[in-house]
Amino acid sequence: MVPAYESVFGKAKGMVFPRIVLVGHGVLDELATTCRRFDFPDRGVVITGPKTAELAGRRATTILQEGGFQASMVIAHEANEAEVDRVADEVRTAHAEFLIGAGGGSKIDITKVVAARLHIPFVSLPTSAAHDGISSPRASLHGASSIVSTEGAVPIGVVADTQLIVQAPFRLLASGCADVISNLTATLDWRLAVRLRNEEYSSTAVALSEYAAQEIMDHASSIKPNLEESVWIAIRPILVAGIAMSVAGSSRPCSGSEHLFSHALDRVSERPSLHGEQCGVGAIMMMYLHGGDWKHLKNALLTIGAPTTARELGVRSDEVVKALVMAHSIRPDRYTILGDNGLTREAAERLATVTGVIG
Ligand SMILES: [Zn+2]
Repeated sequence: MVPAYESVFGKAKGMVFPRIVLVGHGVLDELATTCRRFDFPDRGVVITGPKTAELAGRRATTILQEGGFQASMVIAHEANEAEVDRVADEVRTAHAEFLIGAGGGSKIDITKVVAARLHIPFVSLPTSAAHDGISSPRASLHGASSIVSTEGAVPIGVVADTQLIVQAPFRLLASGCADVISNLTATLDWRLAVRLRNEEYSSTAVALSEYAAQEIMDHASSIKPNLEESVWIAIRPILVAGIAMSVAGSSRPCSGSEHLFSHALDRVSERPSLHGEQCGVGAIMMMYLHGGDWKHLKNALLTIGAPTTARELGVRSDEVVKALVMAHSIRPDRYTILGDNGLTREAAERLATVTGVIG
């Protein structure tokens, strides 16, 4: 017989979070100690890129070795299925029982997927913060014609060294900030989907997502190039956005119509720009459609130095219009302000013009 309480309340949900998050000046030095706190076995592999190896990968490997681990380094290249397979083979050959993803977004994405497939834990060691994927379970891999979002593992730890991240081009940090600011339209889209589609909702995930965006907006004037404090200000909301996605169990709190626009632009543009930059520009336009304060959002992006126009993104006006018209069809299950049928060409042109994105 089913106990009475089960018929009354049958909800269940799993959430996976990083267990240790270290943020600050020189925290890379704590890598081996952090791995010890996780009781990692002896063998580990540091997955890094050709450039980030010099910046962080090699040092991370040495720090682990000095901390008594048998660590080796694998250089990864473009994030795609073939590369994930190759790296996974190397990790197997090395008999690694834990991984460190030391690099920008794509190297961390490869590590996430390899860790998930081999069922071993990993620590995220970002050398830049160009988007909110540092602590999230989603990874982007390059497919044959487009970028596909894949399930990866959530890092068990995050070691975000501000001294390291400040050395990355400022454009990347500004892009990460724009990605988080774009949460503001993502959560509006989610609320809309709740009202129109009775979609499952998490007020905790929304609170975290909006808090992260608000933190960046409020501190926009303090986020500047070559200033380590800027990384300190920006990195925490970027990590919180990842946590919001873990709470929701999906990218919903941080990805709405503005992300659909960015994905569409990736498909139609000859030279797509950075993910976060495109989402920021998308958020200006989607905020206009929601009837919200799009000028305030645009000003925050301008203050940080993130793109607000097609020209600054390095894409053509007709590509922006095309992407706007196509955006609703990218992911039909994700209901947004673009509705089921999306924008007409005329409406898209008008939207991009009124918000100053093209013109
Ligand atoms: Zn994003």
